[in-house]
Amino acid sequence: MEYYSDKINKLIEELGRLPGVGRKSAQRLAFHILNMPKEQVQALTGAITEAKENIRYCKECCTLTDSDICPICASPGRNKRVIMVVENSRDLAAYEKTGKYDGVYHVLHGAISPMLGIGPADIRLKELMVRLQKDVDEVIISTNSSLEGEATAMYISKLIKPTGIKISRIATGIPVGGDLENIDEVTLLRALDGRVEL
Ligand code: ZN
Repeated sequence: MEYYSDKINKLIEELGRLPGVGRKSAQRLAFHILNMPKEQVQALTGAITEAKENIRYCKECCTLTDSDICPICASPGRNKRVIMVVENSRDLAAYEKTGKYDGVYHVLHGAISPMLGIGPADIRLKELMVRLQKDVDEVIISTNSSLEGEATAMYISKLIKPTGIKISRIATGIPVGGDLENIDEVTLLRALDGRVEL
């Protein structure tokens, strides 16, 4: 720590807060940034600030977007009667990449985790229930196959059951504990096609 000046240490510390960035990577990044041309650094910080200030939650599906309604919800080509529930916008992107899903999404921004003190009120479940008051044929629960993802799937299915809307869960084939975003498209599609009704 004391080898560097305060300002460099501060930069290392802030970079080190990012997920997956350990102390060593933070140092490497910090010195890389300090060696970058000034305009490039400004472009980077500008992009971060710009994104943070203009990104909001889609009023329909709660995904992160820069307009009131995200492009997927706004698209007339999407089937609004089928809603896929995912934990975050990255999982949504994973399914979008397959190009084979034409329904819409609902992004929870997390999963229920009693261990971490995250309850149903801490994720975007209320918003989902409001959406289900419209004409919806099926809710596909595509939360991760982690303990939290399974607990969340279970909770949602119990919540939706009384509405009579068809509920399904993506099939296995997704490794247990696996994050959707790291799974290849073929496996994702197989999991979607093989979904089971709950
Ligand atoms: Zn949306």
